[in-house]
Amino acid sequence: MAVHTGSALPPGASDSTFARAFTALTRVVGAENVHAGDSLADYQDPYSFSEPGAYAPSAAVLPASVDELQAVIAVANEHQIPLWTVSRGRNFGYGGAAPRVRGSVVADLSRLNRVLTVDEDACYALVEPGVSFADLHQHLRDIGSALWVSVPELSRGSVIGNALERGFGYTNAGDHSAQICGMEVVLADGRMVRTGMGAMTGNAAWQMYKGGYGPSLDGLFLQSNYDTVTKMGVWLTLPPDRAIVCTAKARNEGDLAPLIDTLRPLLLDGTIQSNFMVGNALATASMITDRNQWYDGPGAMPDSVVRTLCDKLDLGWWNARCALYGTEELAGHASMRCAAPSAASPVWSSRCGRIPGHQCHPTCIRPIAVSSAFPARTSSAWRLGGGGDPAHTDFSLVCPPKGADAVRQAQLIRRRVEEYGFDYAGGFTTFPRHGIALALVSFDKSDPEQKAAVGQMFPQLVADAAAAGYVLPRACDVHGSHRGPVRLGRSCGTTSAADNQGCRRPQRHPLAR
Ligand SMILES: Cc1cc2nc3c(=O)[nH]c(=O)nc-3n(C[C@H](O)[C@H](O)[C@H](O)COP(=O)(O)OP(=O)(O)OC[C@H]3O[C@@H](n4cnc5c(N)ncnc54)[C@H](O)[C@@H]3O)c2cc1C
Repeated sequence: MAVHTGSALPPGASDSTFARAFTALTRVVGAENVHAGDSLADYQDPYSFSEPGAYAPSAAVLPASVDELQAVIAVANEHQIPLWTVSRGRNFGYGGAAPRVRGSVVADLSRLNRVLTVDEDACYALVEPGVSFADLHQHLRDIGSALWVSVPELSRGSVIGNALERGFGYTNAGDHSAQICGMEVVLADGRMVRTGMGAMTGNAAWQMYKGGYGPSLDGLFLQSNYDTVTKMGVWLTLPPDRAIVCTAKARNEGDLAPLIDTLRPLLLDGTIQSNFMVGNALATASMITDRNQWYDGPGAMPDSVVRTLCDKLDLGWWNARCALYGTEELAGHASMRCAAPSAASPVWSSRCGRIPGHQCHPTCIRPIAVSSAFPARTSSAWRLGGGGDPAHTDFSLVCPPKGADAVRQAQLIRRRVEEYGFDYAGGFTTFPRHGIALALVSFDKSDPEQKAAVGQMFPQLVADAAAAGYVLPRACDVHGSHRGPVRLGRSCGTTSAADNQGCRRPQRHPLAR
């Protein structure tokens, strides 16, 4: 039986009051499904740059059904214990499964892991929170379905948590929150609502029609702490006849604006159906080589070394990648349209290649994850060859999909990360009407100076971005306390049912409170 060791307590709770709550939670889910003390290792942020234990939970509880979850919420409300929900807790780079308030109880939904429905005709699935992208992909194959689920780089994260965070993948369904259709939600007072057509028991179009009668509720539950989503409809896509990966390289740092501005019209007119990725050479190199193979001096890697790396690895300073889908004729025509700018513009060369045997997997347009849902290496390994304990954290910004904005953001981020001695390994994922700027900051978490530098740098980055009119898409978890001067107005009021008395995921996306 798990025993609460008292290593972290909820705010305001004494050992004895928490012990009573802990006993009640144990009664709900069984002792083997409550973790405390040493067995909480999985609920720490593996890439933390904060003081050890700053975000330590008091316990983790794993309900196996919606009824159990409601009972857990009732215990938390009765004892005024903050609950922090994770679906699979793989929010790496953004805080992992760790709560934002030390001493919270983590409600880990990974045991609610059923794929409830797959509809081949209407191309959707209804899933529970514990279903990962890899699980859903495997389930589809196991039942003989060829449907695609759009997969982020880390396929072990949950379909639901990622969509709620407005995460993204790399196919024509890459904007994951846009694929949500119908949710079942347990509110902070324990009552349940179903959004859209789900409001009517037995409605046949719950996962097909997003609307309902009157106001739509779904947006309330994205990046919010009003709820726990217990079921979600997710739209899947038909596998295309052909998928063609199109890559483009721009030689110089100054080529970013023309590269983005050349590709955007092809996104807007539907020639390119996936979001396109534009990454600098270090973003690519960090996934395939070790940093110290190129540079082991102080500070950020100098441009001259980056140029050498580009030449040796055959990379552009900027490297773009997207996918074209359709029948042979349609995909072929699209690839000719994409290749055309290379003749017209001196800044880039483009190349389109068919996926061998066109056995496409939804992750197949990732450079290192061809045909595999499990990338072997991530950018945190960039500093691996240099020893220490490699970690990474992500900084991202919402960006208009325009060259001028991309340049402004790249310069803003690069200046600040280099000031703190880190490499700027970054780029953009670009949809027709918005982009997300990404910077992957790798650091050695066994080095207190590097950890402190990351912690000091983030508020500066947020402030720089706010001053320029940009904001983070996920003001979350790990960056929640570093939001600097950024304040967004709340778009709605809470309902009495959602009024969580501070018990449900406090400090989650604090911009919204
Ligand atoms: C190397 C690397 C690459 C990455 N690549 C990508 C990428 O390509 N695309 C991308 O989008 N992300 C990416 N990420 C970020 C992150 O890993 C993913 O978003 C991941 O899918 C999140 O995992 P999860 O859903 O298990 O997280 P969880 O922690 O389970 O959930 C994420 C958040 O949603 C909330 N939440 C979870 N479940 C519920 C629920 N049922 N009800 C209400 N709220 C809930 C939680 O409070 C949490 O804050 C990457 C990270 C790393 C380190």
